[in-house]
Amino acid sequence: MQQGRPAAAGHRLPVIAVDGPSGAGKSSVSRAVASALGYRYLDTGAMYRALTWAVLRAGISLADPDAIAALAERTALRLETDPAQPRVAVDGVDVTAEIRGDAVTEAVSAVSAVPAVRTLMVARQRELIDNGGIVVEGRDIGKTVAPDAQVKIFLTAAAAARAERRSREQAADSAADVSATEDALRRRDSADSQRAASPLAQAPDAVVIDSTELGLDDVVRQVLARVAPVVAT
Ligand code: C5P
Repeated sequence: MQQGRPAAAGHRLPVIAVDGPSGAGKSSVSRAVASALGYRYLDTGAMYRALTWAVLRAGISLADPDAIAALAERTALRLETDPAQPRVAVDGVDVTAEIRGDAVTEAVSAVSAVPAVRTLMVARQRELIDNGGIVVEGRDIGKTVAPDAQVKIFLTAAAAARAERRSREQAADSAADVSATEDALRRRDSADSQRAASPLAQAPDAVVIDSTELGLDDVVRQVLARVAPVVAT
């Protein structure tokens, strides 16, 4: 699970927080940056997705926050932090592919809004961040999970561009698919931004990168340029 350069005793390697709305390219950018630096990679969205998969498997109602919180307490999530192979397991079952399905995507905002779930997940995320040397992507990393992160990026893009990229990933090519994807992205962003507990939010000290007109390599270059001074110290 651990990889990258080990921290010298007492010396914490940098933490790089990458937040932003759905479909802005956080995963591709974060994995590429982690690989370039020899750092670990933590996809916090995958943790909420994995728990959502468990909620759906257990037949728990999305309107029952107590049952969701109780399930979260007894569910073992395992995240691999190798950027080349970020696998996810729930109670020993590999769910890396399943958590990207429509059922999980539609339900995840309801599960991630449960305050007790967030408390638990944020604690687990901090354990995984541990000694640093990690790129962490999510919605609330720079503000809540790792407010002391040395580099904070808020990666965004116009909703239409985000929907088009998502549709391409899902091999949907009709205009109707793209506009349905855009509606779904907007709904999820709105739910994620409006929840009471650690919402999607830009940290005041985050660097905003708008990827609407940029390719992956350009964004990665911009992030690495921000990271270079802190990695060199
Ligand atoms: O990044 P991804 O789209 O996989 O995230 C799935 C969902 O997980 C988000 O829509 C949001 O509800 C939740 N999430 C969160 N906090 C994070 C990361 C993800 O609430 N740090």
